[in-house]
Amino acid sequence: MKLLFEKSVPGRALSILPPLDVPEAPVPENLLRAEKPRLPEISENDLSRHYAALERRAFGVCDGFYPLGSCTMKYNPKVNEQMAALDGFARAHPLQGEQYAQGCLEVLFRAEQILKEVTGMDAVTFQPAAGAHGELLGLLLINAYHRDRGDTKRKKVLVPDSAHGTNPASATMAGLEVISIPSTASGRVDLEALKRAAGEDTAGLMLTNPNTLGIFDENIQEITRIVHDAGGLCYYDGANLNAILGVARPGDMGFDVVHLNLHKTFSTPHGGGGPGSGPVGVKAILKDFLPRDQVAKTDDMFRFFDPPKSVGRVKAFYGNFSVVVRALSYMLTLGAEGMREVAEGAVLNANYMLKKLVPAYEPAQPGLCMHEFVLTLEKLKAETGVSALDVAKAMVDRGMHAPTMYFPLIVHEALMVEPTETESRETLDEAAEAMLDILRLAREDPQKLHDAPVTTPVNRLDEVGAARNPVLRYQF
Ligand SMILES: *Cc1c(COP(=O)(O)O)cnc(C)c1O
Repeated sequence: MKLLFEKSVPGRALSILPPLDVPEAPVPENLLRAEKPRLPEISENDLSRHYAALERRAFGVCDGFYPLGSCTMKYNPKVNEQMAALDGFARAHPLQGEQYAQGCLEVLFRAEQILKEVTGMDAVTFQPAAGAHGELLGLLLINAYHRDRGDTKRKKVLVPDSAHGTNPASATMAGLEVISIPSTASGRVDLEALKRAAGEDTAGLMLTNPNTLGIFDENIQEITRIVHDAGGLCYYDGANLNAILGVARPGDMGFDVVHLNLHKTFSTPHGGGGPGSGPVGVKAILKDFLPRDQVAKTDDMFRFFDPPKSVGRVKAFYGNFSVVVRALSYMLTLGAEGMREVAEGAVLNANYMLKKLVPAYEPAQPGLCMHEFVLTLEKLKAETGVSALDVAKAMVDRGMHAPTMYFPLIVHEALMVEPTETESRETLDEAAEAMLDILRLAREDPQKLHDAPVTTPVNRLDEVGAARNPVLRYQF
């Protein structure tokens, strides 16, 4: 497919500007470019076709089954898009006085009230733009808490090895040293190792639950107790709230801070880079440190206020506001019962599919899973040479998106499957059948799988080359 630059024809204009109806104000000479920018010149028709063609080559949740584990690629109801596009939200200006933006403030306020209930926390901020950004803020809040008490020795954060990869990265960015806590053979936190690691230098614990193996750690209250006894605080990575929404609350498990991914659980289309929203919920002990611009309700008026010991802002203005509008619309549509059904459906669908695939496929852990499960293809690879990558590519040929591959790192030849609650039984049956068919092919004709995908515009890509030597702009 040709690039826009290659389709460009000099002088082919796209813009028809309306006549000038204000006094002309020329750009000052010293601010003008010396040369015209090298932009593609193309007609509106050709431009529309270009993007329509790109869209047909992309794969999204509206094209088919998208079981990308840990990403919650579920169907996002279109009504939420309509709400976010309402003029009063979409065209609001961030510097508009709060008396003229009461509706926007009410959205932030009401979304906060519901998420407090959902997480069991005492306050929520919508500043962070994504999950990892929420993690960073959560840890900055923990740091601020210890510093405020004059407790300056706490520089270590305990992170189980089944945590999401962003957890140790965020901890490092927050200036903390990461201490990895091993898992037991059954994929739970090793309590003895946790006890040994927790001490006077522990700032806190950062835990992903369900962890990246798709397992809910039933020792969770014991885990938070050990950390609290050592004087640390507990951080809950709630990016995958789909698994527990309306059923269990991080606040009740003993956690002090939690982040959610609105773009996963609460219905905003994602992938390809955003926008996202990673609100952070905290217990009362951390409320005073939250970023600026929290919303309060006073005598029938919504107002912004800055918490007294605020760590400042982590993003301009009020976070990615339109994502919060979508989330509120989603939560109000479902109600408390509907939100609980999200989790029940997500867990049921994952277990249904797991049951169909096992024992043909080997699970990384025995037993039931939460909203997703991990398979290990280590034996298959040893026996047939067919890898997790080969199976993933063959799934693409069968009209599905690939699952997450080679993650979590503690499982070899991993495939991580998250069906989500929005898939029908028929879709799950078809997907499971396709995966079993691929397994048969692995034993009969492995070369077919090494060659996959064969139905896509390009076949196997040089992924290392793309990562090491990315070509990010047009080479004139
Ligand atoms: C997706 C995810 C994150 C990171 O969220 P981003 O919005 O991509 O920054 C963190 N933790 C878990 C468990 C996740 O699934």
